[in-house]
Amino acid sequence: MTLYLKYRSKNLDELDLPEVAESLKKIVNSGSIPHAFLFAGPKGTGKTSAARILAKIINCEKLGKGGVPCDKCEQCVSITKGTNLDVIEMDAASHRGIDDVRTLRDAVKLSPTKAKKKIYIIDEAHMLTTEASNALLKTLEEPPDHVVFILATTNPEKLIDTIRSRTTFITFRKASIGEIVNALKRVVSSEKIKIKEESLLRIAEVSGGAFRDAIKILEQFNAEGEIYLDKFKCSELTSFIEALIKKDEKGAINEIEKNVELGISIEVFLQVLLTLFHKAILSEVGVGENKIEGLDKKDLVILTDLFTEANKSLVDSPIEQLPVEIAVIKWCGEDKNVESRNLNLKKDNEVKEAPDVVISTQDSKFQVPDSNIGIVNDDIWKTILSAIHPVNASIEGLLRASRPVGYDGKTLTLGVFYKFHKERLEDANHRKILEDVIEKVLNCPTRIVCTLVAPPPKVIIEEAKTEPVLTESSEPDIIKAAEEIFGN
Ligand SMILES: [Zn+2]
Repeated sequence: MTLYLKYRSKNLDELDLPEVAESLKKIVNSGSIPHAFLFAGPKGTGKTSAARILAKIINCEKLGKGGVPCDKCEQCVSITKGTNLDVIEMDAASHRGIDDVRTLRDAVKLSPTKAKKKIYIIDEAHMLTTEASNALLKTLEEPPDHVVFILATTNPEKLIDTIRSRTTFITFRKASIGEIVNALKRVVSSEKIKIKEESLLRIAEVSGGAFRDAIKILEQFNAEGEIYLDKFKCSELTSFIEALIKKDEKGAINEIEKNVELGISIEVFLQVLLTLFHKAILSEVGVGENKIEGLDKKDLVILTDLFTEANKSLVDSPIEQLPVEIAVIKWCGEDKNVESRNLNLKKDNEVKEAPDVVISTQDSKFQVPDSNIGIVNDDIWKTILSAIHPVNASIEGLLRASRPVGYDGKTLTLGVFYKFHKERLEDANHRKILEDVIEKVLNCPTRIVCTLVAPPPKVIIEEAKTEPVLTESSEPDIIKAAEEIFGN
């Protein structure tokens, strides 16, 4: 028997989530059990275990004080084994159609064979088709006295409202690292497994808050020894992150496939990855020292969004690693999108005559009028900004607090509003990156020269809604705002 099954909680007191145990105890002790429950929460957080415990409490022949099932009577034993004829577990993912629900509705009418009540545990209930959901709803509206439904779902929001409103809702959540460590310690001490405290922590960290995954990893550790945990030391992730930095789509996807072959679940992979990003973001704002060289704050925020989204899609994906691979493609595709946008913009500019810039169709160079409104016109300037963004978002931020003031076909002069920004733009690395990007956009080698100019009365940094506004206020304010954008 696997450790997970062996150590499945047997009564409410053994449930890993204390608040779930509390809610269920209150209901049981009230003496009136509702006819339908909805257990909602992530995978591996104990929904099925809790459903079976509830089934035992309802049907136990010698229920102890405080609703503790005896675990010895015929009902308890057969429920634990999964052989009880009156406790029916259904996976809605594979029985999602109307016919399945009709069969269920007919079966529901029949009295239980031996137990007091028939218990239907319907897992992944959100996978039922709308038609099937409506049919189930009819049964929930007028349930026979001898039936209790326990619906379990990872996506309660996908259930129809009328089903949700007819069920008693119990929320399951991901466990904290401390809770997982405690659960693991229970197993470790009864199995006499030798494991270091730090390895327990490591398992808890990579379990993604799911007791089931944690115990599976522990089991594998027990079979293979410390070496198994080496897999989680993120060496694979280092190569994966390197590929992300280079926007090397193929390399990154290869790394994902390698992890899958190693038997590392995608959930665990994502958990470790997001933990690294989280630590790096904290470091970017000055908490801790876990920066990831090559990814700045903006990159990290975009990546965290993409992979959090992938994590949400895992449940519905027929191929486990697919959402993560899509996230990689979206991230790596950013450059290409920008390039194709640039091409479009260039074409537009070649056709329509922009007032400030004349582009000769032969060499795409700008002829610059002597004006301080905008030497490189708005569209071109925006193209430069969006081209620099995926390469280095800090430089993009710096450019947003400056404007082009001169261009002679070889040198682009930038008027920078603040000394602090000018120094950063003049940094050799920054200038090189900027010159490379501008060369691509303008289609000729370009040198950058920075000069201080008076800022316009009000420069609004047109990015996210939460962006601070740079004004001609006192210097410390400006620096503070800049730090918010660029970090230190
Ligand atoms: Zn019993």
